[in-house]
Amino acid sequence: MNYDLFTGEHEQFRRQVSRFLAEKVTPFAPEWEMKREIPRSIWGEMGRVGFLGFCYDQAYGGVGADELFRIVMAQELALCGAPGFGISVTAHNDMSTTYINLLGNHEQKLRWLTPCIAGEKVCAIAVTEPGAGSDVAGIATRAEKKGDQYIINGQKTFITNGYYGDLLVTAVKTDLKATPPYKGISLIVIEKGTPGVSARKLEKIGGHISDTAEIFFEDVEVPANHLLGQEGMGFFAIMTNFQLERLIAGILCVEIAGWILDKTMDHAKQRIAFGKPIGKFQVIRHKLADMATAIELNRALGYQCANQFSRRVDVTMEISMFKASASEMVNRVVYDATQILGGYGYMAEYEVAKLYPDLRAVTIAGGTTEIMKDIISRLMGI
Ligand SMILES: Cc1cc2nc3c(=O)[nH]c(=O)nc-3n(C[C@H](O)[C@H](O)[C@H](O)COP(=O)(O)OP(=O)(O)OC[C@H]3O[C@@H](n4cnc5c(N)ncnc54)[C@H](O)[C@@H]3O)c2cc1C
Repeated sequence: MNYDLFTGEHEQFRRQVSRFLAEKVTPFAPEWEMKREIPRSIWGEMGRVGFLGFCYDQAYGGVGADELFRIVMAQELALCGAPGFGISVTAHNDMSTTYINLLGNHEQKLRWLTPCIAGEKVCAIAVTEPGAGSDVAGIATRAEKKGDQYIINGQKTFITNGYYGDLLVTAVKTDLKATPPYKGISLIVIEKGTPGVSARKLEKIGGHISDTAEIFFEDVEVPANHLLGQEGMGFFAIMTNFQLERLIAGILCVEIAGWILDKTMDHAKQRIAFGKPIGKFQVIRHKLADMATAIELNRALGYQCANQFSRRVDVTMEISMFKASASEMVNRVVYDATQILGGYGYMAEYEVAKLYPDLRAVTIAGGTTEIMKDIISRLMGI
């Protein structure tokens, strides 16, 4: 279906991204997956061709592109055959540097945003803690102001780009007495390598290309001018940026589901059982039809959200619906696809099978399905 969402410029950008990923990422993804690391050089290459931070101001190296370019980038990342790579890039582009852009002053942007746009530095957002994930207001990492410094103590976990990345946009409590508690949350940029910061790489069941880390802060001294915006603004900024994060997550899910469907269709046409292609069995054909319908429904909602979001309309409820729906949908699609593939669907050398564990994360990260439903029902007035 043609949704008339993208202009010729978006489509030109799509072709550039697609070509780049086909040449520089897809062929090497299996090797990076084994090494569980993205080579640093690829970030620099992406920066040089303008694929990082393109929505930000020219003064810092961006081109001031509209938000729909983020959607195009996410769609192409979804198709590059390495979801973990897409997660790392979107964590940098859409989930962490966004705070520096939104709240940072000129000096902070020159110091951090410019190298992030150039691909010289990799950025992460560190909110989740061992004791607080969905309940962001429950974080315990403490930043105590002493003179012109903050002394930071605490722990973060499940942080994408947290091991190999350079900058941590970190949610901390600057005011323990604030009521309600979320008003005591602030965002501080912590540079990796600062004494007292250490990280442990976590072993996941999928998405191995992207690194995910547990991070410890022990009496970390950070200059007070690393605070983004004002004290107490952190929670509001996080809730605001969650909309972009969840929109991008949903877009990735829809495109990956479409890719899985294509591969499954090919198999269903070629695999012969009882004298005919398995796609000729009604039960299989109907499963494929259900998948295609679910994908198209989600795509329509996603495009509608993207359209409104890019016009700065508040679509929190619809984006929450989209994130919940698309992430659950892609998990159903990969489940049905692996069933249609039979034994091949369980073999790690098959592309669709490999996605099975990768996709398990999408109903959890960036806000669980239950939290999305909570937001939706609250906005419904229940
Ligand atoms: C691959 C991956 C990458 C990630 N990357 C990052 C990152 O870069 N930065 C970052 O800060 N975090 C990151 N996260 C963390 C992620 O955002 C959290 O895991 C997520 O928000 C859930 O928090 P939790 O794990 O603490 O689960 P919990 O909050 O403990 O939830 C456990 C279960 O309880 C349910 N639950 C909780 N509260 C409610 C409620 N009110 N009503 C109903 N059910 C509820 C949840 O839905 C879930 O099923 C990542 C996670 C993964 C898996």
